[in-house]
Amino acid sequence: MTTISTKPVYLYNTLSRSKGLFTPLHPPHVDIYSCGPTVYRDIHIGNFRAFMTPDWLRRMLEYNGYDVLLVRNITDVGHLQNDDVETGEDKLENEARTTGRSAYEIADYYTQKYLKDSDELNILPPQINPKATEHIPEMQAMTEKLVEKRLAYVANGNVYYDVSRFPNYGELSGNTVENLREGGHGRQQMEVAEDKDAPEDFALWKHGDENRQMNWESPWGTGFPGWHIECSAMSTRYLGEQFDIHTGGIDLRFPHHEDEIAQSYGVSGKEPVQVWIHNEFLIFGSLKMSRSKGNVILVSTLKERGIDPMAYRYLLLTAHYRSKLNFTDESITAAQNGLNNLRDDLAALPVPELSNGKQIDLWSEKASQVRDAFHTAINDDLDLPTALSITREVARDNTIDAAERWRLILDFDRVLGLRLDTVEAKAPRTVSDEVLALVKQRDEARAARDWKRSDEIRDLLKTQGYEVRDTPKGTELV
Ligand SMILES: [Zn+2]
Repeated sequence: MTTISTKPVYLYNTLSRSKGLFTPLHPPHVDIYSCGPTVYRDIHIGNFRAFMTPDWLRRMLEYNGYDVLLVRNITDVGHLQNDDVETGEDKLENEARTTGRSAYEIADYYTQKYLKDSDELNILPPQINPKATEHIPEMQAMTEKLVEKRLAYVANGNVYYDVSRFPNYGELSGNTVENLREGGHGRQQMEVAEDKDAPEDFALWKHGDENRQMNWESPWGTGFPGWHIECSAMSTRYLGEQFDIHTGGIDLRFPHHEDEIAQSYGVSGKEPVQVWIHNEFLIFGSLKMSRSKGNVILVSTLKERGIDPMAYRYLLLTAHYRSKLNFTDESITAAQNGLNNLRDDLAALPVPELSNGKQIDLWSEKASQVRDAFHTAINDDLDLPTALSITREVARDNTIDAAERWRLILDFDRVLGLRLDTVEAKAPRTVSDEVLALVKQRDEARAARDWKRSDEIRDLLKTQGYEVRDTPKGTELV
């Protein structure tokens, strides 16, 4: 059984707009809901920042000894994820019409690609990957409750949330209804639909016409769910009415997450999420990466250009998740070089001896200090740029025993996730005749059970830069 570290974890909470001590509701468990992809087209590397941030969060919490449950949904009903307005065409249905494939085939095709790219980026699979299309009854049940409580109303087969009935609306994003109506906070257009009572009201259920492939029966007629209700329904289903952390890209703060709070609170009367975490955008040149700007880079694009997907992961480690990050030829090349250097440094170190295949948990005083600094950095709202610098420095820190440096770096990579455990040690150094003679003498001493002499030679070898490992075949140098 792992014990929880006594070192405090601090996280920045979008809701309180401050960094505070993180206390899980039910330790040692930490429950995280992370908004997943809409699978009607390829997921670009900018989108993946929103999946890597919770991956690092999870790894950091696991490093601290927590038992993390991560849920990331797959939006396989096509809503307009990047648009502030909910009007317009359903992109999944549109893709189906224009390609002649079924909406289900398209969703499945892009889901598989997304899972493959996640793996290439070493994003640990969430324990639960719920699909929206498999949770329609839960969404309908929540919508019915909201109608019952008169927080939502039905109009022409559509169901809308009545924002005027939820006084806390705008708390997460800072968007007040008045401000929204004036086009404030980046919301240029309010969703316009003639059967709504107010422009800020949003859809929980939409009437579906017969041209759609994805339609379901409901108490309000045939139709399909609104996007926001998906995440409220699936987070409640798997994590309960209240859970620890909800993550997503900064663009989801409004309206998606604001609407999730309104829905979940509306049903349960409780604050659904303790900590809201939002990552900033990846910027491509001076533009936010988006398809409409024509600058879309996929994991496969990186590979075609000879860039290791791990170099992209390394690049993201160089900036705090709440800072915008520039993706340029220079920045990705620098990241690839940085990663190569770290791998080379590691490959030059000896592979440490493991006792019965178990990781040794004893550290020298100097190594303990370095681990403490690393641990403090990751617990400080995921300060991964500092954690990465510490890792790079330790690789070259000659004041720490070489084998211990290897162990430290692999220990840190449990959080960084750069797959450094796949780095192989370089070819053995050419060993001088003098050293070989010492090895022979040591084997003879051990055969004669002359431990004193054997230890003396071990120390002598150490002064020459060789660690000694005893194997059934005799002394080995590392
Ligand atoms: Zn969501």
